[in-house]
Amino acid sequence: MRIAVIEYDKCKPKKCGYMCIKYCPRVRMGDETITVNKETKKPVISEELCVGCGICVHKCPFGAIHIVNLPEELETPVHQYGENSFRLYRLPVPKENSVLGIIGSNGTGKTTAIKILSGEIVPNFGDLNSERFDKGKMLEYFRGSELQSYFEKLESGIKAIMKPQYVDKIPKVLSGTVEEIIEKIDERGVSEKLIKTLDMENSMEKDIKNLSGGELQRVAIIAAMSREGDVYYFDEPSSYLDIYQRLNVARSIRELSKEKTVIVVEHDLAVLDYLSDYIHIIYGVPGVYGIVSSPMGVRVGINTYLEGYLKDENVRFRDQRIEFDVLSDRHKKLGNPILEYPDLIKSFEGFELKVEGGVLHEKEIIGIIGPNATGKSTFVKMLAGVESPDNMEIKTDLEIAYKPQYIKRDFDGTVRELLRSVGGDESGYYRSEIIKPLQLENILDSNVGEISGGELQRVAIAVCLTQDADIYLLDEPSAYLDIEQRLNMTKLVRKKIENSEKCALIVEHDIVSVDYISDRTIVFSGDPGVNGHATQPLEMREGMNMFLKDVGVTFRRDHETKRPRANKLDSQLDRKQKSIGEYYYMKE
Ligand code: ADP
Ligand code: SF4
Ligand code: SF4
Repeated sequence: MRIAVIEYDKCKPKKCGYMCIKYCPRVRMGDETITVNKETKKPVISEELCVGCGICVHKCPFGAIHIVNLPEELETPVHQYGENSFRLYRLPVPKENSVLGIIGSNGTGKTTAIKILSGEIVPNFGDLNSERFDKGKMLEYFRGSELQSYFEKLESGIKAIMKPQYVDKIPKVLSGTVEEIIEKIDERGVSEKLIKTLDMENSMEKDIKNLSGGELQRVAIIAAMSREGDVYYFDEPSSYLDIYQRLNVARSIRELSKEKTVIVVEHDLAVLDYLSDYIHIIYGVPGVYGIVSSPMGVRVGINTYLEGYLKDENVRFRDQRIEFDVLSDRHKKLGNPILEYPDLIKSFEGFELKVEGGVLHEKEIIGIIGPNATGKSTFVKMLAGVESPDNMEIKTDLEIAYKPQYIKRDFDGTVRELLRSVGGDESGYYRSEIIKPLQLENILDSNVGEISGGELQRVAIAVCLTQDADIYLLDEPSAYLDIEQRLNMTKLVRKKIENSEKCALIVEHDIVSVDYISDRTIVFSGDPGVNGHATQPLEMREGMNMFLKDVGVTFRRDHETKRPRANKLDSQLDRKQKSIGEYYYMKE
């Protein structure tokens, strides 16, 4: 079965003069394989007539066309947005009093699935002419499955509440102080408790316009949980939160699920693992199609995702498995020193940061971990020369490339122009080393002001890594990236560092990513917003142990994949590891 998808927002026939039509061999033979829609003036590919040669895919200068073969046995889609559009196959099955975790690449239909389950989109089961909910089709499609009764309930009125993915947009649509906003929304009378649990007491008076990303995230979560509904959906609740806040959010979501149905999309595997009762994987080609797997237990679901192979369905959805090594032995030998910095002090009104001096080496990646508002960004900015320490001046002729945590869209031009301005060229080398791994091919001609948050993140990472620097500083590069993108990003950084005289420092809250990428770590601690302390770079095991002890959470290793898994609070293992001081994992 073959499908043809055109991303119409990228298609610009006036600029290309219908290259796809000109070069399609079927059209040249006189077939109407590609025609022009009279109203939109955009091309339409007939899936019946197309022979799948792929010529149009390569000829389209904007990468708008996808011709993809699907597994034969696939039934009709649950929903298709239009002709030559994205389609979603099957649906996840929400259950009352449980947390359903969804894992998958961006663009494979997670939001579509949620919109269908919340009643916002009426599924058309691939029939593009049907506009109303066709009960007969629904019954035929879901007969006997749990989704049949779900849709019957949906028809009689289920209210779905949603925590959106991009919290940065909230100040554009809401105004007032946090207190005013939450007070208006609190239909369930739970906000007071949540404000405490999520540590927002000191931010209540602040205007929503002045909140940090982490504060905005927590406001959005509290607001969603405070509203009265039946199904609650959280899209990436962990971006911008530190590990401590992530686990608190996870516990609050679990609490909510005792009374409600909860669905969560999350790319932080440790968090997803901690909060879900079961998992659905969504796989496919971003922007083209998505297929929802059958439900799986949490451990098996995440391991299956890492493996890239669905045994039951005999489908391989990624060429390679994602592997972890137990890191304590990684890179014992340090490279040549690059930068030696002394103890540093920096204070702002009401905040003081102390940093233990240390040495950065060639070829190493240092993961920076710790609670929010303890000075991580300030430290990174001091190394970058954006802020100067109170006690001395860091004099270095080293070049530093810096990706800040919150990325501004202040470049007036396209992504291509932005990359060119920092030295990105059109060479094959640059394409294969930066553009391709960060999936930027298709947005090169988009304006920086118009791309999504996830795209902006990848562009900012590209801008940082394109520069010819000695030290690369990346502040929370994984926010809004899916697991595949996080992985590509870490591989890219490693490649850049490994064969060079460079080093990288990465501020990261995703424990699985930190574990995956870092050779050593700098641990921050302190009283958030009041004072902060940074250690010198430490060996991973020592640093993680110190950090997790501070957070009060223990981790173990999954015996199959070696990925870190958070122990449930007060479980046998949790108590045992705490008693012997092994918070990261026990030596086998
Ligand atoms: P983190 O990156 O760990 O979140 P930051 O370095 O951003 O920590 O901030 C630590 C503290 O310093 C926060 O309380 C913040 O309000 C304060 N702070 C950061 N930059 C400035 C500044 N330029 N002026 C005043 N206060 C600042
Ligand atoms: Fe025509 Fe080949 Fe494109 Fe199909 S894949 S529309 S046959 S050029
Ligand atoms: Fe031009 Fe590509 Fe649109 Fe075809 S799909 S008209 S080649 S931009």
